[in-house]
Amino acid sequence: MTETVPAVYERLDERFAAVGGDGRLERLWTGARWTEGPLYVPAGRYLLFSDIPNDRVLRWDETDGSVSVFEAPADYANGRTIDRQGRVVTCRQGSRRVERTEHDGSTTVLADRWRGRRLNSPNDVVVSADGAVWFTDPPYGIASDYEGERAEPEIDGCHLYRVDPVTGGVDAVATDFERPNGLALSEDGSRLYVADTQHQHVRVFDVDGDRISGGDVLADLDGGPDGVRVDTGGRVWVAAGRALHVLDPDGTLLGRVGVPEEASNLAFGGRKRNRLFVTASTSVYSILLTVNGAPLL
Ligand code: MG
Repeated sequence: MTETVPAVYERLDERFAAVGGDGRLERLWTGARWTEGPLYVPAGRYLLFSDIPNDRVLRWDETDGSVSVFEAPADYANGRTIDRQGRVVTCRQGSRRVERTEHDGSTTVLADRWRGRRLNSPNDVVVSADGAVWFTDPPYGIASDYEGERAEPEIDGCHLYRVDPVTGGVDAVATDFERPNGLALSEDGSRLYVADTQHQHVRVFDVDGDRISGGDVLADLDGGPDGVRVDTGGRVWVAAGRALHVLDPDGTLLGRVGVPEEASNLAFGGRKRNRLFVTASTSVYSILLTVNGAPLL
Protein backbone atom coordinates (compact mmCIF):
# COMPACT_ATOMS: atom_id res chain seq x y z
CA MET A 1 0.00 0.00 0.00
CA THR A 2 1.27 3.47 -0.87
CA GLU A 3 2.23 5.55 2.11
CA THR A 4 0.96 9.14 2.17
CA VAL A 5 2.02 12.27 3.97
CA PRO A 6 0.14 15.57 4.25
CA ALA A 7 0.86 18.01 1.43
CA VAL A 8 1.83 21.48 2.60
CA TYR A 9 1.02 24.30 0.18
CA GLU A 10 2.63 27.52 1.32
CA ARG A 11 1.08 30.51 -0.43
CA LEU A 12 3.36 33.55 -0.57
CA ASP A 13 1.51 35.41 -3.33
CA GLU A 14 -2.19 35.45 -4.20
CA ARG A 15 -1.38 34.09 -7.67
CA PHE A 16 -0.46 30.81 -6.00
CA ALA A 17 -4.21 30.23 -5.58
CA ALA A 18 -4.12 28.70 -9.07
CA VAL A 19 -1.93 25.91 -7.72
CA GLY A 20 -3.71 23.23 -5.74
CA GLY A 21 -4.39 19.54 -5.71
CA ASP A 22 -4.21 16.53 -3.48
CA GLY A 23 -4.03 17.12 0.23
CA ARG A 24 -1.35 14.48 0.46
CA LEU A 25 1.80 13.34 -1.21
CA GLU A 26 2.09 9.69 -2.09
CA ARG A 27 5.42 8.05 -1.49
CA LEU A 28 5.52 5.71 -4.47
CA TRP A 29 8.76 4.03 -3.58
CA THR A 30 11.71 4.31 -1.25
CA GLY A 31 15.07 2.58 -0.91
CA ALA A 32 17.49 4.72 -2.91
CA ARG A 33 20.61 6.52 -1.84
CA TRP A 34 19.87 9.59 -3.97
CA THR A 35 17.09 9.77 -6.52
CA GLU A 36 17.33 12.07 -9.52
CA GLY A 37 16.39 12.43 -13.17
CA PRO A 38 12.63 11.73 -13.19
CA LEU A 39 11.06 11.39 -16.63
CA TYR A 40 7.53 10.26 -17.40
CA VAL A 41 7.34 8.38 -20.70
CA PRO A 42 3.75 8.83 -21.95
CA ALA A 43 3.67 6.00 -24.48
CA GLY A 44 4.86 3.46 -21.93
CA ARG A 45 3.04 4.95 -18.93
CA TYR A 46 6.11 4.69 -16.75
CA LEU A 47 8.48 6.92 -14.85
CA LEU A 48 12.21 6.47 -15.16
CA PHE A 49 14.43 7.76 -12.38
CA SER A 50 18.05 7.42 -11.32
CA ASP A 51 19.49 6.20 -8.03
CA ILE A 52 22.89 7.69 -8.69
CA PRO A 53 25.15 6.38 -5.87
CA ASN A 54 23.74 2.88 -6.37
CA ASP A 55 24.46 3.22 -10.10
CA ARG A 56 21.05 2.14 -11.29
CA VAL A 57 17.97 3.38 -13.07
CA LEU A 58 14.56 2.35 -11.84
CA ARG A 59 11.18 2.26 -13.53
CA TRP A 60 7.85 2.89 -11.83
CA ASP A 61 4.98 1.36 -13.79
CA GLU A 62 1.82 3.45 -13.77
CA THR A 63 -0.35 0.46 -14.63
CA ASP A 64 0.31 -1.46 -11.43
CA GLY A 65 2.53 0.74 -9.26
CA SER A 66 5.43 -1.68 -9.35
CA VAL A 67 9.05 -0.54 -9.39
CA SER A 68 11.79 -2.55 -11.05
CA VAL A 69 15.41 -2.09 -12.02
CA PHE A 70 15.62 -0.71 -15.55
CA GLU A 71 19.41 -0.50 -15.80
CA ALA A 72 22.22 -1.59 -13.46
CA PRO A 73 24.97 -0.68 -13.72
CA ALA A 74 23.77 2.51 -15.34
CA ASP A 75 26.95 4.46 -15.98
CA TYR A 76 25.87 6.74 -13.11
CA ALA A 77 22.92 8.16 -15.03
CA ASN A 78 21.58 11.45 -13.70
CA GLY A 79 19.04 13.69 -15.49
CA ARG A 80 17.06 12.76 -18.58
CA THR A 81 14.45 14.10 -20.95
CA ILE A 82 12.54 13.01 -24.03
CA ASP A 83 12.88 14.50 -27.49
CA ARG A 84 10.14 15.29 -30.01
CA GLN A 85 10.57 11.84 -31.56
CA GLY A 86 9.97 10.17 -28.21
CA ARG A 87 13.57 9.13 -27.64
CA VAL A 88 15.02 9.34 -24.14
CA VAL A 89 18.14 11.49 -23.75
CA THR A 90 20.27 10.74 -20.68
CA CYS A 91 23.16 12.39 -18.87
CA ARG A 92 25.77 9.79 -17.89
CA GLN A 93 28.13 10.89 -15.14
CA GLY A 94 30.29 7.77 -15.38
CA SER A 95 31.29 8.09 -19.02
CA ARG A 96 30.81 11.87 -18.84
CA ARG A 97 28.52 12.12 -21.81
CA VAL A 98 25.02 12.81 -23.04
CA GLU A 99 23.46 10.01 -25.01
CA ARG A 100 20.22 9.20 -26.77
CA THR A 101 18.50 5.84 -26.67
CA GLU A 102 17.15 5.00 -30.11
CA HIS A 103 13.87 3.19 -30.70
CA ASP A 104 15.75 -0.06 -31.39
CA GLY A 105 17.55 0.17 -28.04
CA SER A 106 20.92 1.24 -29.41
CA THR A 107 22.53 4.40 -28.08
CA THR A 108 23.99 7.42 -29.79
CA VAL A 109 26.53 9.68 -28.07
CA LEU A 110 25.42 13.30 -28.49
CA ALA A 111 28.21 14.97 -26.51
CA ASP A 112 31.25 13.83 -24.59
CA ARG A 113 33.85 16.51 -25.32
CA TRP A 114 34.18 20.22 -25.84
CA ARG A 115 37.18 21.53 -27.77
CA GLY A 116 38.74 18.07 -27.51
CA ARG A 117 38.47 17.86 -23.73
CA ARG A 118 36.22 15.52 -21.79
CA LEU A 119 33.14 17.00 -20.17
CA ASN A 120 32.98 17.09 -16.35
CA SER A 121 29.82 15.07 -15.72
CA PRO A 122 26.64 16.09 -17.55
CA ASN A 123 23.83 16.58 -15.06
CA ASP A 124 20.58 17.51 -16.74
CA VAL A 125 19.26 18.04 -20.24
CA VAL A 126 16.41 19.46 -22.33
CA VAL A 127 15.70 19.26 -26.05
CA SER A 128 14.16 22.19 -27.90
CA ALA A 129 11.62 21.91 -30.73
CA ASP A 130 14.36 22.29 -33.35
CA GLY A 131 16.15 19.23 -31.96
CA ALA A 132 18.94 21.12 -30.21
CA VAL A 133 20.11 19.48 -26.98
CA TRP A 134 20.94 21.76 -24.06
CA PHE A 135 22.73 20.40 -21.02
CA THR A 136 24.63 21.41 -17.89
CA ASP A 137 28.02 20.11 -16.82
CA PRO A 138 28.88 20.52 -13.13
CA PRO A 139 31.61 18.33 -11.55
CA TYR A 140 29.56 16.20 -9.15
CA GLY A 141 30.31 12.98 -11.03
CA ILE A 142 34.09 13.46 -10.93
CA ALA A 143 34.44 15.07 -7.50
CA SER A 144 34.52 11.64 -5.87
CA ASP A 145 33.62 8.02 -6.52
CA TYR A 146 30.29 8.50 -4.74
CA GLU A 147 28.23 9.28 -7.84
CA GLY A 148 30.66 8.65 -10.66
CA GLU A 149 34.37 8.14 -11.16
CA ARG A 150 36.79 10.48 -9.43
CA ALA A 151 38.87 12.40 -11.94
CA GLU A 152 40.55 15.72 -12.53
CA PRO A 153 38.48 18.07 -14.66
CA GLU A 154 39.77 18.65 -18.16
CA ILE A 155 37.67 21.76 -18.74
CA ASP A 156 38.24 24.94 -16.74
CA GLY A 157 34.74 25.67 -15.60
CA CYS A 158 31.20 24.32 -15.49
CA HIS A 159 29.26 25.41 -18.51
CA LEU A 160 25.90 25.32 -20.23
CA TYR A 161 26.17 23.57 -23.59
CA ARG A 162 24.14 23.24 -26.76
CA VAL A 163 24.41 20.41 -29.26
CA ASP A 164 23.51 21.55 -32.75
CA PRO A 165 20.78 19.41 -34.31
CA VAL A 166 22.28 19.61 -37.78
CA THR A 167 26.05 19.52 -37.32
CA GLY A 168 26.19 17.72 -33.96
CA GLY A 169 28.69 20.34 -32.82
CA VAL A 170 28.94 21.02 -29.08
CA ASP A 171 29.12 24.68 -28.07
CA ALA A 172 29.44 26.26 -24.64
CA VAL A 173 26.68 28.87 -24.72
CA ALA A 174 27.18 30.23 -21.19
CA THR A 175 30.46 29.99 -19.29
CA ASP A 176 29.77 32.11 -16.21
CA PHE A 177 28.09 29.50 -14.03
CA GLU A 178 29.49 28.03 -10.84
CA ARG A 179 27.39 24.85 -10.62
CA PRO A 180 24.80 24.79 -13.42
CA ASN A 181 22.28 22.06 -12.73
CA GLY A 182 18.59 21.68 -13.63
CA LEU A 183 17.17 23.42 -16.68
CA ALA A 184 13.89 23.85 -18.52
CA LEU A 185 12.54 25.59 -21.58
CA SER A 186 9.37 27.66 -21.55
CA GLU A 187 6.53 26.06 -23.48
CA ASP A 188 7.13 28.26 -26.54
CA GLY A 189 10.87 27.66 -26.36
CA SER A 190 11.71 31.33 -26.05
CA ARG A 191 13.11 31.21 -22.52
CA LEU A 192 15.61 28.88 -20.93
CA TYR A 193 15.72 28.58 -17.15
CA VAL A 194 18.90 27.24 -15.54
CA ALA A 195 19.56 26.63 -11.85
CA ASP A 196 22.96 27.36 -10.34
CA THR A 197 23.16 25.26 -7.19
CA GLN A 198 26.22 27.02 -5.79
CA HIS A 199 24.76 30.50 -6.14
CA GLN A 200 21.32 29.32 -4.99
CA HIS A 201 19.51 31.01 -7.82
CA VAL A 202 17.77 30.42 -11.14
CA ARG A 203 18.76 32.38 -14.22
CA VAL A 204 16.72 33.08 -17.33
CA PHE A 205 17.99 33.33 -20.90
CA ASP A 206 16.23 34.42 -24.06
CA VAL A 207 16.55 31.82 -26.79
CA ASP A 208 16.77 32.84 -30.43
CA GLY A 209 17.62 29.89 -32.61
CA ASP A 210 21.12 28.73 -31.75
CA ARG A 211 21.85 31.79 -29.64
CA ILE A 212 20.95 32.78 -26.10
CA SER A 213 21.12 36.18 -24.47
CA GLY A 214 20.34 37.71 -21.11
CA GLY A 215 21.04 35.30 -18.29
CA ASP A 216 19.88 37.53 -15.44
CA VAL A 217 19.02 36.06 -12.09
CA LEU A 218 15.30 35.29 -12.11
CA ALA A 219 15.08 34.41 -8.43
CA ASP A 220 17.22 33.66 -5.41
CA LEU A 221 16.12 30.65 -3.42
CA ASP A 222 16.61 29.16 0.02
CA GLY A 223 18.66 26.04 -0.48
CA GLY A 224 20.58 24.94 -3.52
CA PRO A 225 18.23 24.58 -6.49
CA ASP A 226 18.50 21.44 -8.58
CA GLY A 227 15.77 20.31 -11.01
CA VAL A 228 13.56 22.77 -12.93
CA ARG A 229 10.28 22.26 -14.82
CA VAL A 230 7.65 24.56 -16.33
CA ASP A 231 3.86 24.29 -16.31
CA THR A 232 1.38 25.43 -18.96
CA GLY A 233 0.71 28.61 -16.96
CA GLY A 234 4.33 29.58 -17.47
CA ARG A 235 5.20 29.00 -13.83
CA VAL A 236 8.68 27.72 -13.10
CA TRP A 237 8.95 24.84 -10.63
CA VAL A 238 12.26 24.42 -8.86
CA ALA A 239 13.37 21.65 -6.49
CA ALA A 240 15.42 23.16 -3.66
CA GLY A 241 15.77 21.88 -0.13
CA ARG A 242 12.64 20.21 1.18
CA ALA A 243 10.30 22.02 -1.17
CA LEU A 244 9.24 22.71 -4.70
CA HIS A 245 9.48 26.44 -5.23
CA VAL A 246 6.96 27.86 -7.70
CA LEU A 247 8.03 31.02 -9.51
CA ASP A 248 6.04 33.36 -11.68
CA PRO A 249 7.77 34.10 -15.01
CA ASP A 250 8.48 37.56 -13.56
CA GLY A 251 10.57 35.92 -10.84
CA THR A 252 8.14 36.28 -7.94
CA LEU A 253 8.17 33.32 -5.57
CA LEU A 254 4.47 32.48 -5.58
CA GLY A 255 4.60 29.65 -3.10
CA ARG A 256 6.05 26.32 -2.15
CA VAL A 257 4.93 22.74 -1.95
CA GLY A 258 6.67 20.94 0.89
CA VAL A 259 8.40 17.58 0.41
CA PRO A 260 9.35 15.33 3.36
CA GLU A 261 12.91 14.79 2.12
CA GLU A 262 15.40 16.96 0.28
CA ALA A 263 14.08 17.27 -3.27
CA SER A 264 16.41 16.89 -6.23
CA ASN A 265 14.14 17.07 -9.24
CA LEU A 266 10.60 16.83 -10.55
CA ALA A 267 8.63 15.78 -13.61
CA PHE A 268 5.06 16.24 -14.75
CA GLY A 269 3.37 13.10 -16.00
CA GLY A 270 0.23 11.10 -16.34
CA ARG A 271 -2.10 11.29 -19.31
CA LYS A 272 -2.80 14.99 -18.67
CA ARG A 273 0.62 15.92 -17.26
CA ASN A 274 -1.10 17.01 -14.05
CA ARG A 275 0.55 14.41 -11.88
CA LEU A 276 3.79 15.68 -10.45
CA PHE A 277 6.58 13.25 -9.62
CA VAL A 278 9.33 14.31 -7.26
CA THR A 279 12.65 12.60 -6.68
CA ALA A 280 13.70 13.36 -3.13
CA SER A 281 16.67 11.74 -1.40
CA THR A 282 15.71 8.11 -0.75
CA SER A 283 12.26 8.22 -2.37
CA VAL A 284 9.94 9.15 -5.21
CA TYR A 285 6.76 11.08 -4.40
CA SER A 286 3.70 11.94 -6.45
CA ILE A 287 0.87 14.44 -6.18
CA LEU A 288 -2.08 15.17 -8.47
CA LEU A 289 -2.33 18.91 -9.15
CA THR A 290 -4.76 21.44 -10.58
CA VAL A 291 -2.09 22.62 -13.02
CA ASN A 292 -0.51 20.81 -15.97
CA GLY A 293 3.10 20.48 -16.95
CA ALA A 294 4.25 21.93 -20.25
CA PRO A 295 4.54 19.13 -22.80
CA LEU A 296 8.00 17.86 -23.70
CA LEU A 297 6.76 15.98 -26.74
MG1 MG B 1 20.46 17.80 -11.17
